[in-house]
Amino acid sequence: VRAAAPDYLAGLNPEQREAVETLDGPLLVLAGAGTGKTRVLTTRIAHILALGRARPFEILAVTFTNKAAREMRERVGKLLGHAAEGMEWLGTFHSIGARMLRRHAELAGLKPSFTILDTDDQIRLIKQVLAAENIDDKRWPARQLAFAIDGWKNRALSPEKVLAGEAQGYAAGRGAELYAIYQARLKQLNAVDFGDLLLEPIRIFREQPDVLAQYHRRFRYMLVDEYQDTNVAQYLWLRLLAQGSKNLACVGDDDQSIYGWRGAEVENILRFDKDFPDAKVVRLERNYRSTGHILNAASHLIARNEGRLGKTLRPQTELGDKVTVAGSWDSGEEARAIGDEIEALQTKGHKLDDMAILVRASFQMREFEERFITLGLNYRVVGGPRFYERAEIRDAMAYLRVVASPADSLAFERIVNVPKRGLGDVTVKAIIERARADEVTMPEAARRLCDAGALGAKARAALKDLVLSFDRWSAELDKIPHVELAEKILEESGYTDMWSKDRTAEAQGRLENLKELVRSMEPFENLRGFLEHVSLVMDVDGARGEDAVTVMTLHAAKGLEFDTVFLPGWEEGLFPHQRSLDENGRAGLEEERRLAYVGLTRARRRAKVWFASNRRVHGMWQSSIPSRFLDELPEADVDVIEVPAAFSSGMGGVYGQSRFDKTEPFNSTYSTPGWKRAQERGFDRGSPGPGARSRGPMTIEGELVAASTAPSAGFA
Ligand code: ATP
Ligand code: MG
Repeated sequence: VRAAAPDYLAGLNPEQREAVETLDGPLLVLAGAGTGKTRVLTTRIAHILALGRARPFEILAVTFTNKAAREMRERVGKLLGHAAEGMEWLGTFHSIGARMLRRHAELAGLKPSFTILDTDDQIRLIKQVLAAENIDDKRWPARQLAFAIDGWKNRALSPEKVLAGEAQGYAAGRGAELYAIYQARLKQLNAVDFGDLLLEPIRIFREQPDVLAQYHRRFRYMLVDEYQDTNVAQYLWLRLLAQGSKNLACVGDDDQSIYGWRGAEVENILRFDKDFPDAKVVRLERNYRSTGHILNAASHLIARNEGRLGKTLRPQTELGDKVTVAGSWDSGEEARAIGDEIEALQTKGHKLDDMAILVRASFQMREFEERFITLGLNYRVVGGPRFYERAEIRDAMAYLRVVASPADSLAFERIVNVPKRGLGDVTVKAIIERARADEVTMPEAARRLCDAGALGAKARAALKDLVLSFDRWSAELDKIPHVELAEKILEESGYTDMWSKDRTAEAQGRLENLKELVRSMEPFENLRGFLEHVSLVMDVDGARGEDAVTVMTLHAAKGLEFDTVFLPGWEEGLFPHQRSLDENGRAGLEEERRLAYVGLTRARRRAKVWFASNRRVHGMWQSSIPSRFLDELPEADVDVIEVPAAFSSGMGGVYGQSRFDKTEPFNSTYSTPGWKRAQERGFDRGSPGPGARSRGPMTIEGELVAASTAPSAGFA
């Protein structure tokens, strides 16, 4: 007699259950959005633990974001009925890679306290390399080299390998050489960049079979979510680890591969059963997330892509509301109208937590943020290290980093003269040169410079003061609580004071951000833990705990779900993004379409698409035409809410005959309550401005900046 299935298995459909219960050997779950792939992974972990097949620390589970890791941990706990403690190896590729590298730092020529550079530090370092090599930063921008290096690292190519291949292109073929110099500088600084977090472990695994064997023994089960977005380096890392137990379970959806521009290779998923010949492949077809119209619209749209496996998706609930498509005169009006709709939903009792605005490019967020502030609507910005990218946060973090690891030269350089201490460029240059000549860290070089009497009296006094301050703070590092220490540092350094005295409009906001930063340190055990977290976070919740609308990029929304999803900015040039089209042609367009599919399939009950006929991009008004994706939505599943006549004839859709290219009088009636209210309020339509009549797609400096600088060679 078979024992009754444990509770956590009860809610699964037969295919899901098969995927959960097939514990041994390689497994691939290939299925569309909302079919329960992530749920399968979570339940699988619970099952492994419940059966005692492995202890928590013997399971490697890779998620795409830290937030996803957090959620998975919580859900496993719920399924088991007690907290899933000790799951040390549940995290993102980066966080797990960092953990491994800290354990074996010496094998990579690093000290365990190494710093992880973020993009900004990376650019700063590359600028130094370029300057030292007398390469004109204007002709060969640092960003371009950064992009080339990231590209090589995504493909697991070391400088030696790049050198061996054909590395023409960047800086007339010097790219590989610069890459090698950059790597050497990283080692000197006891630092790594994101790419190294996997490349160094891969190198160690290959060179030290005993280390790899140790991990083979440890990881009895391995699980990977969003497998379609793994790049070559991640793939190699996984394959090396999976040679041990072979119990590797990956779940993914080729239609949701949206990181091609960052080196993800959807082929990884397609060749899974070749790499693991005895792999079991499970397909899930029932979508539990979205109502019928939403799912139909998304499936219809993605069917336009040629390069796909093709999957069936069946809704499990009623047809529900149709997808709505609405137009606005300009981006400001779009934000106002969406704000009104959100308020209207809220009045009807819907929670803000269940609503999200998903944008194509992060510059679109600002208009929503401003509108929500005006309305007093609670919101949070998620995705991309937005908060930590702000100048005041980066400055404050730089102070903390120097205190935690005095060898962090890049951080030191950032704040040596912030606030102004009379340590001008000349002094900073002298410190850098001294550091290079003596092969010491910046603070140490600064100290020596003071002692050597090489500086003017004023600069010397200021520098001495700073070095002594750092000595003092470092001495307190393990003595007083880190939150208290952080406050103290920001006070004593004069940094908070600098903003208090500042009379510009943003100063107040910056001070609030600094307070927020200190607050956000509380849950961490110590300063190092916090710094490690920050260098790894991809997703930061602004207003955790309170009911709030989420604003995020489509890229960051992967894997998530909301009752109501607003999708603004469906305009040619913005979405699909012009840069993807220019650089990758048809493949670029297909990736954009997958992004639209991801966007629509985040919605449980309501998907609301918007487009504006005028948009302000970097202060310039540009006119735009509706996205071709709007025409690709099936009419039967869409309600066109209203179409303003902002589109004069001749601006027509890409296919010439866009349904959304109407030439009605501009004052056409708006039918949503939001619009009516907006009109009653008599808002200013604003001027379309001089750029408004220009034709053709807009060009936008969005988040694809890096992609635009892709060097043409060295990637094949
Ligand atoms: P995505 O491709 O977007 O990452 P997914 O395949 O990972 O989606 P999940 O997020 O795991 O899908 O599940 C989507 C929703 O459907 C979740 O709310 C989940 O709880 C629910 N769900 C999954 N399986 C079932 C089931 N058997 N019965 C009821 N609800 C389910
Ligand atoms: Mg998922």
